[in-house]
Amino acid sequence: MFKALVLEQNEDKSVRHSIQSLDEIALPDGDVRVAVAYSTINYKDGLAITGSAPVVRKFPMVPGIDLAGSVIESADPQFKAGDTVVLNGWGVGEGHWGGLAQQARLKGDWLIKLPAAFSPRQAMAIGTAGYTAMLCVQALERAGLTPDRGDILVTGAAGGVGSVAIALLANRGYRVVASTGRASEADYLKGLGAAEIIDRNELSEKGRPLGKERWAGAVDAVGSHTLANVLAQTCYGGAVAACGLAQGGDLPASVYPFILRGVSLLGVDSVMAPRQIREAAWTALASELDTSKLDSMTAEIPLGEAAVVAGNIVRGQVRGRVVVNVNR
Ligand code: NDP
Repeated sequence: MFKALVLEQNEDKSVRHSIQSLDEIALPDGDVRVAVAYSTINYKDGLAITGSAPVVRKFPMVPGIDLAGSVIESADPQFKAGDTVVLNGWGVGEGHWGGLAQQARLKGDWLIKLPAAFSPRQAMAIGTAGYTAMLCVQALERAGLTPDRGDILVTGAAGGVGSVAIALLANRGYRVVASTGRASEADYLKGLGAAEIIDRNELSEKGRPLGKERWAGAVDAVGSHTLANVLAQTCYGGAVAACGLAQGGDLPASVYPFILRGVSLLGVDSVMAPRQIREAAWTALASELDTSKLDSMTAEIPLGEAAVVAGNIVRGQVRGRVVVNVNR
């Protein structure tokens, strides 16, 4: 038997959650069974657990798009009992039972071996949010961004993607400007490496199709008017990596930044990213991410508090990253 957070659907389509004790026979099909050590709460987990968006595709569902732990048994020759593995995405926690449980059964092709630089807890402090931050940084540099080109903006700065993006970019020598709605987090953001803090209200309202050139590049976790304004303020030849929708999934922008300034909009997806892209991101995280900064952005909770924190993250009230100790 193992403990899991279980989501079920009510008749009115709302979602209820409970901690249940399950038999391992109930686990979905897969070729690798994992003893989960840690999971985490990402924004998408918040949406799933609160039922605020139709993230879960079938019920009952164990949420948790991320997990780290050790292999109990494997029919996949890539893994053997005792291997430490990490999983991000692949629809786990949406259509296949996820990480907010003491056990999971998964496809071996979804797993990667955890880099030796990280413990399972640190892997979940990074989680999908941190791995996506690295995908954004890598996308920007593939598009030609270098620290000498000028300031780089990070929106949703005090959230998970934003916090890790700031630490990574500052470490690579960029001058990072952090956009946040929480002025009280200025010291936290500066501690991660932000050189300047701006109020997110500067970006969140409907703006002009083109504005003063301010950013050589940006990591945007927010979408909507914010992303439109960021594009309108991006310098000639700059690039913006778009990965999120904390403000909204719309993009009320014009083509002018693209056709008059050659600005590039780079889409970033972590969920279905092929294995070599994941491994490259995790390898880069292992060599670059300052683990003391990672510690400073991480809080730990037991499984029983996951649902409360899920509500908090949807309301934009979580700072940095939250790891879930599923065995506490
Ligand atoms: P968090 O909730 O940790 O961070 C989001 C941050 O956005 C908040 O902390 C807040 O930062 C800011 N924010 C919240 N609401 C608003 C609003 N209404 N207007 C403007 N800013 C707002 O989430 P994550 O970092 O885990 O994820 C960020 C986004 O990226 C989410 O939309 C998520 O779904 C997406 N994502 C996408 C991935 C992909 O594969 N493409 C992978 C991972 C995440 P502050 O208080 O500093 O303003």
